[in-house]
Amino acid sequence: MRQRTLKQVLSATGIGLHSGKRVNMTLRPAPPDTGIVFRRVDLPEPVDFPVDAFSIGDTRMASTLEKGGVKVSTIEHLMSALCGLGVDNAYIDLTAVEVPIMDGSAISFVFLIQQAGLLEQPALKKFIRVKKAIEVSEGEGATLKCASLSPFNGFRLRFEIDFAHPAIDKTGQMLEIDFASTSFIRDIARARTFGFTQDVETLRNLGLALGGNLDNAIVMDEYRILNSDGLRYDDEFVKHKVLDAIGDLYVIGHPLIGQYQAYRSGHSLNNQLIRALISDSSAYDIVTFNSVKDTPAVFRADWAVA
Ligand SMILES: [Zn+2]
Repeated sequence: MRQRTLKQVLSATGIGLHSGKRVNMTLRPAPPDTGIVFRRVDLPEPVDFPVDAFSIGDTRMASTLEKGGVKVSTIEHLMSALCGLGVDNAYIDLTAVEVPIMDGSAISFVFLIQQAGLLEQPALKKFIRVKKAIEVSEGEGATLKCASLSPFNGFRLRFEIDFAHPAIDKTGQMLEIDFASTSFIRDIARARTFGFTQDVETLRNLGLALGGNLDNAIVMDEYRILNSDGLRYDDEFVKHKVLDAIGDLYVIGHPLIGQYQAYRSGHSLNNQLIRALISDSSAYDIVTFNSVKDTPAVFRADWAVA
């Protein structure tokens, strides 16, 4: 089971969900053991952001890389697609502060990566195997949020959301997914981000959601979904939270072998979780597999060709 990068260079243009700024993004191949490296190419001197658990700063409404006062925002959907398609090494050049939101899901990034094609590299692919349960939480009672990682020979996620909203109430608020039997591309990648009209003013006063609209998010008023086409999956909301979690976890640098469980978790708690794991050397090890058949069903090669 070998590392992978992109076969060729590919670009896309879009706007940032939070900044509202137009941005050009170029995905480029990278040598083995590079990992995922974002690069701001619009600054007088380009700034590189190698992605790891401690590279995340701001986690309000998105996962943002921060280094010396410079940022790269909203990396989670692209990170999710890179993880789901098994891309270990890539450079991501950006001409603005934020990754383009595209349609609010990960599917545009999946198509881009598929179009670029994947190249197997000589080095063995590295996985982080969870050896010991790690849990983080915030708040209590009605404000409780928690997330955990525990040993499991594969990659399984269980996510529960709890929104008291008529449109979300009707859908499944709990999802369990085992990637031995689930396709990231088919079952997760199309789930869009979502928001509520009553939050828009507050968010915009904070400089957030400036680029958000019905083309890149599910938008709800107090009662219903405003998008005329409705939902892409019956349980699109919780599926999007799983999509986010996959991207937030992949920030650790390698795919995880383990089980993730979360209740009302978000970018902040997901980042605290991988920091807690990586800070406890007895909680994980880094493993490689000489043959694909020995590799636990995490994200298999065949999913790249959906
Ligand atoms: Zn998201």
